[in-house]
Amino acid sequence: MSWDRIVMVDWSGGGDRGAKPTKDAIWIGSARGGIATEPEYCRNRVVAEDRLSAIIEGAAAAGERLLIGFDFPFGYPAGFARAVTGSDDPLALWANLADRLPTTKDGRERVQVAADLNALFPGDGPFWFDLFKDGQVPRTKPTSFPITEWRQAERQTKGTFSCWQIGGAGSVGSQALTGIASLERLRERHGASIWPFEPLNAPVAFVEIWPSLIADAVAAGQQEGEIKDAAQVRILAEAFSRLSPDELAKMLDVDAPEEGWILGLGHEETLRAAARQGRLRNDCFALPPGVDWTPVDDALTMLRDRLSPVTGEETLSLGQAAGRIAAADVTALRSHPPAANSAVDGYGLAEGLAPGLHHIPLVEGRAAAGAPYEHALPEGKAVRILTGATLPEGVTTVVLEEDCRVTETLLSVEGPLKHGANARKAGEDVSVGHAIVKAGRQITPADLALMAATGRGDVTVRKKLRVGVLSTGDELREAGDPLAPGQIGDANRPMLLAAIAAMGHEAVDLGICRDDRETLRAAFTGAKTDVLITSGGASAGEEDHVSALLTETGTMALWRIAVKPGRPLALGMWDGMPVFGLPGNPVAALVCTLIFARPALGLLAGGGWTEPLALTVPAAFSKRKKAGRREYLRARLVDSAAEVFASEGSGRISGLSWAEGLVELPDDALDVSPGTPVRYLPFAGLIG
Ligand code: AMP
Ligand code: MG
Repeated sequence: MSWDRIVMVDWSGGGDRGAKPTKDAIWIGSARGGIATEPEYCRNRVVAEDRLSAIIEGAAAAGERLLIGFDFPFGYPAGFARAVTGSDDPLALWANLADRLPTTKDGRERVQVAADLNALFPGDGPFWFDLFKDGQVPRTKPTSFPITEWRQAERQTKGTFSCWQIGGAGSVGSQALTGIASLERLRERHGASIWPFEPLNAPVAFVEIWPSLIADAVAAGQQEGEIKDAAQVRILAEAFSRLSPDELAKMLDVDAPEEGWILGLGHEETLRAAARQGRLRNDCFALPPGVDWTPVDDALTMLRDRLSPVTGEETLSLGQAAGRIAAADVTALRSHPPAANSAVDGYGLAEGLAPGLHHIPLVEGRAAAGAPYEHALPEGKAVRILTGATLPEGVTTVVLEEDCRVTETLLSVEGPLKHGANARKAGEDVSVGHAIVKAGRQITPADLALMAATGRGDVTVRKKLRVGVLSTGDELREAGDPLAPGQIGDANRPMLLAAIAAMGHEAVDLGICRDDRETLRAAFTGAKTDVLITSGGASAGEEDHVSALLTETGTMALWRIAVKPGRPLALGMWDGMPVFGLPGNPVAALVCTLIFARPALGLLAGGGWTEPLALTVPAAFSKRKKAGRREYLRARLVDSAAEVFASEGSGRISGLSWAEGLVELPDDALDVSPGTPVRYLPFAGLIG
């Protein structure tokens, strides 16, 4: 059994939390195939119940199966259901609680309900914590519980709270009371299966979850500025949606018919791995054994085969969507054009015309764009019609006004005229339901026109890939700062940040890091980006700390690529984040970024693998190239021929700036003289 979408809910037993997203409210996270949408904030339970209803109805309409997790116990310790309802059936208790607790924006009723339930027991009853200091419920934990304090599942975990405690930081008692009541209503409305009390045969299943089960993975995945509750539901939804059907089936296979169970309990490692790992495997940069120098094409193939999208989704209005990557296929919501209309200014006729002169009486009124002619065309008549006007009923053909002579009331025109001439059929451009923009496409201005014309006001796109850029080296100073002896300005960072932003990603400036293992470790851990690009320190020397750190994780691969300019690339994973360790030399750093990182980032961003734009042009230079490695020369076009920079010196940043593209010379030997065809890759196709 598999689910198309995983939704995770952080419930709240309290009152309304206001319009501004905040913690301790209700948060809803949703993910499909490891990709989450932006978590949604619900200020109170009325809003949350409505929102969940809408999500369930949306899934039903799309034919999707939905697994929804809630962070409160679905059952109470054994014996409680019987004490309240006379039956051990936990769902009888659900119905009972729903009767006692209507959904309100307020949170006060739950204390009365806890007090009423306590009254069913001799002595104080199990519920405790004097939430509103009104003495309805005992202030402190009972010295002896009339029912056991813990469920079986809770005995197997550390740090859970008891369902009897209805207040205090971290407590879950209020969430369970209000949550069960709300879920009972949703269950009645939508026929959800409740795990693990019922077989999961409905298209929507409710399950119990507990984010702290993988608290470390959740903390590691929380993004800067992200509210913890939002991060929890996002990361859990992502993690559960990455599980194989088999892994999930194992987690769902429990026997807890009265008390319920925490989904994933006993399977924390699997869940943690799914949460941390993302879709990239830790060994995604590993090189085949025995490889010494990797040809460029092999390196590109490995990147292409092993990387996959890591970005979530968000829905944007068309006005914000240019340049973003479509997250799913977009279909036309209506046909274009929506109705048959005129392609020209002229006169509408019932049919085509036979050869010869025709005199046709004109009706009063006209059809214009946005102001249709409201009547059917009477037989044997013609009607004035303007470009873009919907064809009135009975009109199939339009005669161009330049071909007509007209008086107030009569149209004279020379046939023949083809049936249907100058008329656009409804849907002749695009028919409703047709895929107009494919998943993975970078949305162009024309795509926006197509979506707007076919009824779309917004589009679901990938979130921008967050790419951290970090320079490493004791010699580096911030651009513009004075230099002490031995120091140089950090040239790579402004260059790489700009290049990455121009590729459509979110470039995150992580500054300069000294050649010090621990400082660099802190910078890696603090990056919190989807990808990290470093420059410098990537070789195997004693001050090459990027490669040393990645070696510690066991994921380091030193890619010696048969390319000039180029030094080894240090590739590895840092806690699920891919790291591209570029050489420090600015020329090599840029070439490696454009040739290797550019397509890799495109894939991670969800835009698929793209080949660079390449033109074959005559060389305007001479060069003898030996076999064995591919070479990239700083180049520009002059009169459609490729000139190259005078010096191939790899330290010459002026040559990078002079260039407007790269000439790519093949791995084999080549004698280039003026006129030899060469491959030219314009920067416009690599960066812009
Ligand atoms: P590394 O890869 O750290 O051995 O550095 C190789 C060369 O690139 C050295 O000459 C460094 O000083 C230089 N370099 C490293 N990082 C930068 C940078 N961000 N800007 C300019 N030059 C750099
Ligand atoms: Mg260095």
